[in-house]
Amino acid sequence: MIEVEELTFKYPGANGHAVRGVSFGVKRGEVVGLLGPSGAGKSTIQKIMIKLLPMQQGSVRYEGVELGDLDRSFFNKVGVSFEHPNVFPKLTAAENLSYFAGLYARDVMSPEEVLGLVGLAGEADKPAGDYSKGMKQRLVLARALQHRPDVLFLDEPTSGLDPATAQRVMDLIAAERDRGVAILLTTHNMHAADTLCDRLAFLHDGEVAALDSPRALKLAHGERAVEVEHRVDGRLERARFDLGDEGARGRLSELLAGAEVETVHTREATLDQIFIKLTGSELVA
Ligand code: ADP
Ligand code: MG
Repeated sequence: MIEVEELTFKYPGANGHAVRGVSFGVKRGEVVGLLGPSGAGKSTIQKIMIKLLPMQQGSVRYEGVELGDLDRSFFNKVGVSFEHPNVFPKLTAAENLSYFAGLYARDVMSPEEVLGLVGLAGEADKPAGDYSKGMKQRLVLARALQHRPDVLFLDEPTSGLDPATAQRVMDLIAAERDRGVAILLTTHNMHAADTLCDRLAFLHDGEVAALDSPRALKLAHGERAVEVEHRVDGRLERARFDLGDEGARGRLSELLAGAEVETVHTREATLDQIFIKLTGSELVA
């Protein structure tokens, strides 16, 4: 659906490049995550892909057509939410949605319907300026979803949300994916990246440091080991088993069959740990 090739970008007057040789693709029904600390270049990539920043080097193609050759109808197919929710503060939520709905040459959900989706059903008539940050975040998500786009760009959609609301937003994103939407999710939320993304691009200093499924990344970089806590004569003991070692696997089965086992943990690496290993940087900046 979307192909990004060797994207490179430098802000006018900046010393270095914000984006360097970035390539990835997003298929229909796929969530691809751009994961990286603040300043890695995630928002810049998203902005180039929706023509908010000019194309300097490289290419972005939608269904084989260069971004530069697409006409304005392109925007009918795309939904975007920005990192910093931009709403008209004096207009109500419903008015904010209707204003943007008028720009689309296709069927649009009613404000009530789409606000219901993001959990703001009772808040349609409040001025958006009176919304909390989390509510604004959901309002811009509603705005991105209301015309049922084929492609979604979501920049930090869960930032500033409490865990329950973040989960609700993640469920919504998953539902859009299941509808066949191609989704680019920009985030430094490791949990969202891990649970939602089919593939992840680790972004560091404007470059892709790794690109694969969360599972493949964890298998490639984690330890294949299991840690078991069990009781021996009332005392808590901890034992560790290397899953690559046949003898260790045998001892693990014996332990599980006999002993008083309290906890079993796999030692697979977290995305955080893998990110540090590959880039030398912390994910959360
Ligand atoms: P992220 O979204 O991953 O936090 P950004 O794409 O916002 O990263 O930023 C990438 C780099 O580009 C950073 O070094 C940032 O300081 C720089 N940058 C971002 N926006 C601008 C701008 N408008 N002008 C100059 N430099 C910018
Ligand atoms: Mg950003």
